[in-house]
Amino acid sequence: MKLGVSTGSFYKPGKWIGTQKAIKEISKLDIKNIELGFIDFERVFKFDLKQAKKDLKGFKTIGIHLPAIHYKKNKETEFVTKVMFLLYKKLKADYVVTHSGWVKNPHYLKNKKWKVLIENDTGSYKTGYKKFGNFIKKHKFNVLLDVNHASDYGLKEVNNYIKNFKNKIKVVHLAGGHKRKSIWHKSFSKATKKFLKSIESIKKLNIPIIIEDNKIGVRELKKEIKKVKEWFNV
Ligand SMILES: [Zn+2]
Repeated sequence: MKLGVSTGSFYKPGKWIGTQKAIKEISKLDIKNIELGFIDFERVFKFDLKQAKKDLKGFKTIGIHLPAIHYKKNKETEFVTKVMFLLYKKLKADYVVTHSGWVKNPHYLKNKKWKVLIENDTGSYKTGYKKFGNFIKKHKFNVLLDVNHASDYGLKEVNNYIKNFKNKIKVVHLAGGHKRKSIWHKSFSKATKKFLKSIESIKKLNIPIIIEDNKIGVRELKKEIKKVKEWFNV
């Protein structure tokens, strides 16, 4: 399986070890895929590109999570996408991902030669697979399926996504579902049996499965990876 880890797994409100350190920590794991989270745009300015290029050498898939802004016709979008595109090129990344709720005008993401994935949402931008699907089809985007966000719409939702957009789904975000009344993800090892059963169909997808946990360190991540591998039977 193509297992990966997101640098976002090292994020805790008020406590962020930094993208650079997160990459170093993930390098210690037996993992070949990585997603770099730049939800806060300022993280880019604390990023040592030269060092990162070295540290990322062993990875097969590199994803970039784009900053949390509204993508539309304005100076901010122009600047943010210009910088992120440069980073994408320099790191020879495989995809960038943003949330459907942040995309106010798809043109301002589509005007660059990069592979853009759109992630299904939860929280204030909540949309079920039908509305999300219409958006994806209309603008010809590929999909990053976050199974934690999907499960907010009921335990049939992951199957709905896979049935309807199987060929469009290029990456999965995996954790153990949502913490109650929160946007934070539960650890995979804390997932309920019901949740695990509802996401069973992701096992058939031969695409990167990125662990996107919150508030977890290397020791815990090693345990998580073991659990995920056991569940995938690899
Ligand atoms: Zn996600």
